[in-house]
Amino acid sequence: MDQYGLSPDKPIKLSDFDPDDGEGFKSKSDAQRQLRKDLMRIRVLQEALYAEHKQSLLIVLQAMDTGGKDGTIEHVCGAVNPQGVVVTPFKVPSAEELAHDFLWRVHKVTPARGMIAVFNRSHYEDVLVVRVHDLAPKEVWSQRYELINQFEKHLTANGVVILKFFLHISKAEQKERLLDRLNTPDKQWKFAVGDLKERALWDQYQEAYEDALNKCTTAAAPWYVIPANRKWYRNYLVARIIRQTLEAMNPQFPQPAEDLSQVVIED
Ligand code: AMP
Ligand code: MG
Repeated sequence: MDQYGLSPDKPIKLSDFDPDDGEGFKSKSDAQRQLRKDLMRIRVLQEALYAEHKQSLLIVLQAMDTGGKDGTIEHVCGAVNPQGVVVTPFKVPSAEELAHDFLWRVHKVTPARGMIAVFNRSHYEDVLVVRVHDLAPKEVWSQRYELINQFEKHLTANGVVILKFFLHISKAEQKERLLDRLNTPDKQWKFAVGDLKERALWDQYQEAYEDALNKCTTAAAPWYVIPANRKWYRNYLVARIIRQTLEAMNPQFPQPAEDLSQVVIED
């Protein structure tokens, strides 16, 4: 797992990460077996987190189009009690959101104590799409890396554990997935012609991602680069890391507030 987690003092090159990686597994079924075990464990840990009501977990998912954010949410986060999870997709900001600072819409949906929040895209769009499309001047977006680090530090100091996953696919894999969307009637709703414009900017996006990953990996809130060409390996890795993180958080079921030993429940 460790080879996919970045560290603050070791800047990475995205091109050194192989999106095809499926290290350590001979077969898909081995990974799926482990995934099922991890999901069962995550379910129990999430219940304890909810009951304990002290800490919370924030999971940030970023990827190029078709990178697998939706699939990861479905397969990994779908396994936990829906009452304990809030998934927020970040779309093009509304007029009201644009009238505020870029973190305004984000802070409102950070996880309450006991909760797991999943961001489908996130505040990182403000240093990705905004940078690639010049939606704000460089003086504005270039300050945001530090502002994001401060924001995330503020959250972690308040009991929020942060996991950030970049689902890393190759350009060739994206082509396959876009073709699949185009040619499958039930998937066409996911195909946006605009995605092709984004695809043409692939290299600029990779550069913007590399910067975001390097500048915003802190000890408290590291990025993971998840090889995501193989969906089963992606799901397996994300679930493993969530399980390990929840285990380290070690949530405890609270003791009853009063002595229950004499309680009798009448017929
Ligand atoms: P999807 O995730 O396919 O529903 O698309 C959401 C779209 O919203 C993507 O094209 C994002 O780049 C865009 N988006 C998300 N956040 C921002 C932002 N802060 N500024 C501009 N566009 C954004
Ligand atoms: Mg899309």
